[in-house]
Amino acid sequence: MDIDIVSVFPEYFDVLNLSLFGKAMERGLVTVRVHNLRDWTHDVHQSVDDTPVGGGAGMVMKPEVWAECLDELLDVPVDAPADADAAPSPGSPVLIFPNPSAPLFTQQCATELSHAEHLVFGCGRYEGYDARIPQYYRERGVDVREYSIGDYVLNGGEVAVSVMLEAITRLLPGFMGNADSIVEESYTGANALLEHSQYTKPATWRGMAVPPVLISGDHGKVDRFRRDEALGKTSRLRPDLIARLDCAALGKADRKTLMALGWEVSGAHPRRLG
Ligand code: SAM
Repeated sequence: MDIDIVSVFPEYFDVLNLSLFGKAMERGLVTVRVHNLRDWTHDVHQSVDDTPVGGGAGMVMKPEVWAECLDELLDVPVDAPADADAAPSPGSPVLIFPNPSAPLFTQQCATELSHAEHLVFGCGRYEGYDARIPQYYRERGVDVREYSIGDYVLNGGEVAVSVMLEAITRLLPGFMGNADSIVEESYTGANALLEHSQYTKPATWRGMAVPPVLISGDHGKVDRFRRDEALGKTSRLRPDLIARLDCAALGKADRKTLMALGWEVSGAHPRRLG
């Protein structure tokens, strides 16, 4: 996977050399190029921002500088005509802008983007970037995504890009040491739940024992215990995920557990009783 990141603080991404991501770069699984947006400025102050049109606090990132940079990275000709119905061609780069007022970035987005060949991330700063930038590239056939990583406001897009990048790239075949690690995880798969609680040795620590079934050696019972724990935890903490489950894909034991947790499972999706 090819990754371009544009930021006014490119040093933020030095941490990518660490841990599994660093190893993935060494092995050539991912190629990352980090660019300083200021390299596309022409004035002596290397300005990337200007005051908001219509007034208001703060500064907004200028479209001209972003466009010079993105035309180059996305290979879009300066005179490319606008087409409101332009469809992205398969295999073309996906342009991603983190933005707190955009739809939420989820595991599903990460999974979808892990199949892309080339991702280009643009890190916003200040009050954000001129709203015409994503629109301009969409109308030139670029697959442009804007995502929020949560309901809070950060100073810039760098942390948000790091979050998305890690969620996407750990799904690449060969990225994780053990491929099974990403199969049964929270938010993963068609009928996604929160993952069951995890324990390691010793079996008793400071007087606290792990659930006895986990050391029973009975794999069937361990699987059922974990599944019931995941259903219970998800029902308690994220009932929205339970309400999205496809009842037709649930086994008899799952239905029994959900009914005991106060869900009705005879329709297309579980419905909370009472
Ligand atoms: N004025 C904007 C607002 O109220 O929605 C906030 C701008 S924020 C200070 C500057 C940049 O940080 C944004 O353009 C975006 O790139 C990034 N950012 C901040 N919070 C974010 C979040 N929750 N998710 C994704 N990106 C975020």
